Amino acid sequence: MMNRRNFLTAAAAAAFAPASFVRAAGAQRRVIVVGGGLAGLSCAYELRKLGFEAIVLEGQGRAGGRVQTLREGLDPGLIAEAGGTRIPDTHKMTLDYVREFGLSLEPFKDGDFADVMHLRGKNYVRGHGPEPVWPLQLTAEERSLGVAGMAKRHLGELLMAAKGSGDSANVPAAILQQDRFTLQEYLEKQGLSHDAIELLTLGADTSVGMGLAMLISLNEQVTKGYFHIRGGNDQLPDALAKQLETIGAIRYGCRVTSVGQNDTGAWAVLERGGEQETVRGDYVVSALPFSVARNLFADARLSMEKQRVIRELQYWPVDKVFLQMQRQFWKTEGLSGFANTDLTSNKFWSLGPESPDKRGLLLSYVVGKNTAKLSVMDAEGRVRQTLADAEVVFPGAQKNFEAARTKSWSEDPWQRGGLSRFDPGQLSWIPINARREGRILFAGEHTSRWNGWMQGAIESARRVVSEISA
Ligand SMILES: Cc1cc2nc3c(=O)[nH]c(=O)nc-3n(C[C@H](O)[C@H](O)[C@H](O)COP(=O)(O)OP(=O)(O)OC[C@H]3O[C@@H](n4cnc5c(N)ncnc54)[C@H](O)[C@@H]3O)c2cc1C
Repeated sequence: MMNRRNFLTAAAAAAFAPASFVRAAGAQRRVIVVGGGLAGLSCAYELRKLGFEAIVLEGQGRAGGRVQTLREGLDPGLIAEAGGTRIPDTHKMTLDYVREFGLSLEPFKDGDFADVMHLRGKNYVRGHGPEPVWPLQLTAEERSLGVAGMAKRHLGELLMAAKGSGDSANVPAAILQQDRFTLQEYLEKQGLSHDAIELLTLGADTSVGMGLAMLISLNEQVTKGYFHIRGGNDQLPDALAKQLETIGAIRYGCRVTSVGQNDTGAWAVLERGGEQETVRGDYVVSALPFSVARNLFADARLSMEKQRVIRELQYWPVDKVFLQMQRQFWKTEGLSGFANTDLTSNKFWSLGPESPDKRGLLLSYVVGKNTAKLSVMDAEGRVRQTLADAEVVFPGAQKNFEAARTKSWSEDPWQRGGLSRFDPGQLSWIPINARREGRILFAGEHTSRWNGWMQGAIESARRVVSEISA
């Protein structure tokens, strides 16, 4: 009941509190957040801080989505990051949360070790000593420039132009201008030979839009070092989820099957244990990858443009195969355990404690078309193939192999892909992916300029929070 005393207290609070908080607290606006990945979790967490009644509906029995740390079946202490793995020192929003929840960081890929490049049947060590003599038909100029020199000459100017855009949430204009080409086409346009392009892009998917390729390179250019959360990156979404669990603001096992809106509200229809339920609010935030949201919006009155991006945005298939090794034997040979290759396993990374004598993981990270080769194999076949590739790149792998875990993101029914993949011309879709449509708002890495990163999910949540609380 409003008496004179609590009216005066409320009026005094209104005079000093931020406008958004006052309005939210007064109207108790209710927000339904669909999807409990980093985007959905941080969105609900921040909205709750502002006084909104936000609730997350998550389809799985766990939060975190594409931040998933595998431990079972591996030696205790070994951490297999199936999804989000490294945090660049420039990703302030991710690091802010790490600090807020008191998590501790360790360096990712430390030590002065060399990487391997495997091509045409041979291993080449890069990063230490002179440029290897590549078994390729390079022009004299390409040979004398080497890999770093070619990258600088043909991509350096573009990256310098983009660097000026700093922390802006927009894709740098210099990058957007080149986005009509694939990476392959752009490098051909630069006059590079076929073999030089093969060398420069070893382990990468050259059919991707040039814009996305440049965003990835730009991140590498501005990053001085990478971190990993000690004990596993899943502690970050877990910390957010715990905050929401304690106030009953997250519901697990709720598969949302449709989202709708009218002039007065918005709703999500969910299935749980064979029952259907409609959850209503003032707003719905879709924090789902478009790959699993294609059929959700029939009642949502979305614009044609929005319907198109939801239907057409593609996702990179990504497979990871983790091989537990008895010893990190590659370190005793001065190698980092990282490699780019022309094998089925396009890339190897390694994760493990510092000492080479301790157990560690060699991880095959397959992105793009090579995942099709793995998709016809069962888990055992994938491990066998990866181990055979590992033996070629890091001789001794077979002898040291103890156990394995696999993860295919395109086979995961809650994801249907690893990372949003922007084909030529599609990087300009980001603002369309992100744009609110009435009472339905959109979060997720695919709506951010930091797409493909945990920071993209977090940044998108901050944007949605400011849209709702404006
Ligand atoms: C292989 C891989 C490597 C990566 N490496 C890095 C890295 O090194 N560094 C980095 O910063 N980032 C990395 N990322 C990216 C980072 O993990 C993602 O950008 C981020 O986690 C995406 O969060 P999100 O909330 O946007 O989406 P998601 O995590 O996909 O969250 C979506 C959520 O929606 C749920 N859901 C799906 N359908 C429904 C439904 N119908 N109803 C209810 N819930 C549903 C899902 O279960 C999931 O929890 C990597 C990702 C992958 C896959």
